[in-house]
This record gives sequence, C-alpha cells and structure tokens, in this order.
Amino acid sequence: MLELTGVVAGYGRTACLKGISLEVRAGEIVALLGANGAGKTTTLMTISGLVRVRQGGLSFDGVRLDRLSPEAIAGLGIGHVPEGRRLFSRLTVLENLELGAFLRRDRAAIAQDRERVFGLFPVLRDRRTQLAGTLSGGEQQMLAIGRGLMGRPKLLLLDEPSLGLAPKLVQEVFQVITQINQAGIPILLVEQNARMALTVAHRGYILETGAIAMAGSAGDLAGNPQVQAAYLGG
Ligand code: ATP
Repeated sequence: MLELTGVVAGYGRTACLKGISLEVRAGEIVALLGANGAGKTTTLMTISGLVRVRQGGLSFDGVRLDRLSPEAIAGLGIGHVPEGRRLFSRLTVLENLELGAFLRRDRAAIAQDRERVFGLFPVLRDRRTQLAGTLSGGEQQMLAIGRGLMGRPKLLLLDEPSLGLAPKLVQEVFQVITQINQAGIPILLVEQNARMALTVAHRGYILETGAIAMAGSAGDLAGNPQVQAAYLGG
C-alpha cells in the first residue's frame, strides 16, 4: 500500500533521511524503531507531505505522493497522529473529533464513526464536553488516536502513541492499536517502546541516523541479539 524507495528528506541543508526504503502492506502493523534523532518522526512527516522529498519515490496505492500537498495526502486516506498529540486544548473532546473529519461531508457516516471511536475509548464519551486540555495524558492520547480515526484512514501513521503514559495505559493503547488494525487499517507505528511495538507489529524496521539498519519480521527482530542489546534493554 505504502512504499518508500530511497527517500532523501530533511530540514534546511541537512538531509536527516538518507535514502529510506520501506513498505507497509495491506493488513499490517509495521514498527519503525530507532534511537532519539534517528529520523522516525521525519519519516512520518515526509509521508504526510509536511517535509519535502528531495530524492527517491513515495507512493500510496500506486499514487505518487511526493508532489502532493499534506491536504491531498490526507484526502487519499493517510491519517497521521502526531507525536505530542497536538490537540486543540481549548476545544472539547467532541469538537476535536469533529476536526478529525474536516475533509468529509458525509454527516451520517461521521456520526457512526464517532460512535465507533466512543466504542474503542468509552472514557471519551463520558468526557465528550470536557476541554481537551483538561484531559489526562492517557485520555489525550486516546483522543488524538480517535481524531485520527475520524478521517476514515486507509493507513494510519502513529507517532509515539505510548510516550509519557503510565504502564497500564501503555497496555491499553497497544490493545487499541491491535483492535484498529484488526478492523482492517494498516498502521505504521513509530515507538520508543520497542518491546511493546514488536509485540503488536507484524514486521519492523530499525532506523539508525537516517538509514534503515535492519528489517524483518517482528519475531526475528525481537530475537536478534543486536536489537536486544540496543533497543530491548539486553
Ligand atoms: P525522537 O525519538 O527523538 O523523536 P526521531 O527518530 O523521531 O527522534 P526526528 O524527529 O525525525 O527523529 O529527527 C531527526 C533529525 O532531524 C534530528 O537530528 C533532529 O534534530 C532533526 N530535526 C527534527 N526536526 C527538525 C526541524 N524542524 N528543523 C531542523 N532539524 C530538525
């Protein structure tokens, strides 16, 4: 579905992605792992059109993405839940969810999708009139993912969904990631928590200073001594 071939991209004069090739196939959860600053967030931003591709190819369902605007890319069905949640803190839970559907006009289907989000995250229903900025960290993360789902994505990019969450919530968020995937949405998952990410993912890539250092099935990566030493705490 999603294919990157030799993607070079970055900020200013530096190219922090130095020729990335990766793919996400239908039905998959693919983990993108790596140390701080390796380029994981930049990879997602490049897919979403927020960082320009300098070299290489990028396509989704056979459509080239590298000259499209972020709006056009979202319109193709690529949903991006950014790191740090980026909610509208002075808007309510409901209003934030509405904004996730801003490219859509199908009111009835939007209402259905809102119900589905409330089904995944019952706490959001209870707090639907509360301002997003007053939610707990975990609730905010759920709202961010819920907002991403309101765009009816065909592919979901998740940037560090477990960041800053208590262990119990981390478990919950990963469960939801699995549920979303089982409902048919492929996911490209950026995570610091490599152990959890490899538990839910089908395949993974290890990014080191802007290049793919390793790729494989989640099981192979989790069993690899180098990966264990560098990313799984030995
Ligand atoms: P982290 O886990 O810390 O978020 P990451 O793997 O997601 O790391 P990126 O955020 O993609 O890494 O950053 C890759 C490199 O690009 C880093 O060296 C970072 O300092 C640099 N960088 C990121 N954003 C910008 C920006 N807006 N302007 C200039 N350089 C940036």
